[in-house]
Amino acid sequence: MTRIEPERIRLLNARTFASGQYILYWMQTSQRAFWNPALEFAVDLANERGLPLLVAFGVTPYYPEANLRHYAWMLEGLRETAQALRERRIGFVLRLEYPPDLALNLARNAAAIVTDRGYLRHLRVWRRYVAERAPCPVIEVEGDAVVPVEVAYPRQAVRASVLRRRIHLLLPRFLQPLQEQVPRIQADFDEPSLDPTSPEKVLALLEVDRTVEPVDFPSGTSAARARLRRFVEENLPRYADLRSDPRQDVTSGLSPYLHFGQISPVEIAWEVSHIGGPGAEAFLEELIVRRELALNLVWYNPDYDRFEGLPRWARETLRAHAADPRPVLYSLEDLESARTDDPIWNAAQSALVRTGRMHNYLRMYWGKRLLVWTAQPEDALRIGLYLNNKYALDGRDPNSYAGVGWCLGLHDRPFPERPIFGKVRPMTPEGFRRKFG
Ligand SMILES: Cc1cc2nc3c(=O)[nH]c(=O)nc-3n(C[C@H](O)[C@H](O)[C@H](O)COP(=O)(O)OP(=O)(O)OC[C@H]3O[C@@H](n4cnc5c(N)ncnc54)[C@H](O)[C@@H]3O)c2cc1C
Repeated sequence: MTRIEPERIRLLNARTFASGQYILYWMQTSQRAFWNPALEFAVDLANERGLPLLVAFGVTPYYPEANLRHYAWMLEGLRETAQALRERRIGFVLRLEYPPDLALNLARNAAAIVTDRGYLRHLRVWRRYVAERAPCPVIEVEGDAVVPVEVAYPRQAVRASVLRRRIHLLLPRFLQPLQEQVPRIQADFDEPSLDPTSPEKVLALLEVDRTVEPVDFPSGTSAARARLRRFVEENLPRYADLRSDPRQDVTSGLSPYLHFGQISPVEIAWEVSHIGGPGAEAFLEELIVRRELALNLVWYNPDYDRFEGLPRWARETLRAHAADPRPVLYSLEDLESARTDDPIWNAAQSALVRTGRMHNYLRMYWGKRLLVWTAQPEDALRIGLYLNNKYALDGRDPNSYAGVGWCLGLHDRPFPERPIFGKVRPMTPEGFRRKFG
C-alpha cells in the first residue's frame, strides 16, 4: 500500500500548529469514510500529535443551486459516513452552519485543519476564507481526481487528447490504493451536533426549495460500491460497444456518488483497471480523462459557467448565427415542463425531472436542441445549466459545466457550417432516429 502522494497535499496558509484539543477535518467534497486521502492524512496528523480527530460537516440552506432532492440524497449518504467514522473511533459533527464559519468556529480548539479539495468557484473561495482567518495551519488534500489537476496539465486543455497523453503517463504513479490509518486516540467529544443518523430531522430544519422531489435511488458509499460491483460483473464487458446507446442500460450510474464524494474515483479506477479489456479501457477514458478534463476546465477557466468561457471559434460562429431563424422558440416554462414538439426531447426532460438522471447520449442531444429553440446561444447555455443543475442528482458538478459547454463547442472541433449551429457539431432528431430507430 502506498502513502498519499505529496502532490495531493497543499498548505493553504503559513500558520504554526496551535495547542489545540484535536485535529479538525473540515469535510466538504469527499463525503466518505474510506479511500479518502484527506481523512487518512488527518488521522496520521492526529496520531503524530497525540490528538483525537474530529470531522465536521456544515449544512447550509444557501448552497448554490441546491434543492430538496440534493439535500435529501446528501444527508442520507452522510448518515452512513458518520456511522463508519464512529466505528473507526473518529468524531463527527453535523451542524446547520455556513461551512466556512463552522470550520472557523471549531478551529478555535484545533491544532490544525485538514480539508479536501474543491474545484468550483465557491468551494475555492470558502477554503481561501478559512485559510486566511484560521489561527492554525490549513492543509488541503486532493482526493477526488485520479491525477491531481495541476500535475495533469498546467493550463486549460483545449480538448481531451491533450490531457489523455499526460494522464496515461502519470497513471502508474497516481493510480494506487490508499493505506487506511488507525487512530491512536479515541474521539470523545461533546461538541454540539445534529443527529446525522436522522437525516429526515435535519431535512425538516432546512428552509430550502422543496419543489424538486427526492428520488428513489440509494445513497451512500455502500450503495456506490454495490453498484460498482454489479456494473463490473454485468455491464463492463458490453460497455465499449453499448455505452452510447440510450436504449441499453449499461453505464455504471456512478456519477451522483462521484459528485457527492461518496466513492473515490481512484477506488473505482483501481478496481476496473485490474479487469482490463476494451470495456475497462473505454470506461477509464470516461472516468479519468473525460471527468478530469472537466476538473481542468473549472480549475483554469474562470468563466467556466459563462458564454465567455467557450472557445473563441465557438463563440464567434454561434454569435454569427444568432440571428438565424429558429423553427420555434420555447419559453423556459415550456422546456421545464417538457412541452416541445420533439417526443425524444420531452421523454429525456421528463425522465430528468422524475428520476434525476439522463443517459449521456440523450444529454448531448438534449443540450444541442436547446440551441435550436432559444433566441440566443447565451440562453441555451443558461437554460441548459439551470435545468441540469436543478434536476440532475449529479448536477452542479464540474462535469455539468463541461457537458453543457460541450453542446456549444467546448472541448470539440469545428464542423462544416450550417444554420443556427454554425461550425458547432450539430445533432438532429433525424440523426437520432437514424442511429436508434
Ligand atoms: C449536456 C450534458 C450535461 C451533463 N451534466 C453532467 C452532470 O451534471 N454531472 C455529471 O457527472 N456528468 C454530466 N455529464 C456527463 C455525462 O453525461 C455523465 O457523467 C454520465 O452520463 C454519468 O452516467 P454514468 O455514471 O452512468 O457514466 P459512465 O458511462 O458509467 O461513466 C463513469 C463515470 O465517468 C464520468 N463520465 C462519463 N461520461 C462522461 C462525460 N461525457 N464527460 C465527463 N465525465 C464523464 C462520470 O463521472 C461517470 O460517472 C453531462 C453531459 C452532457 C452532454
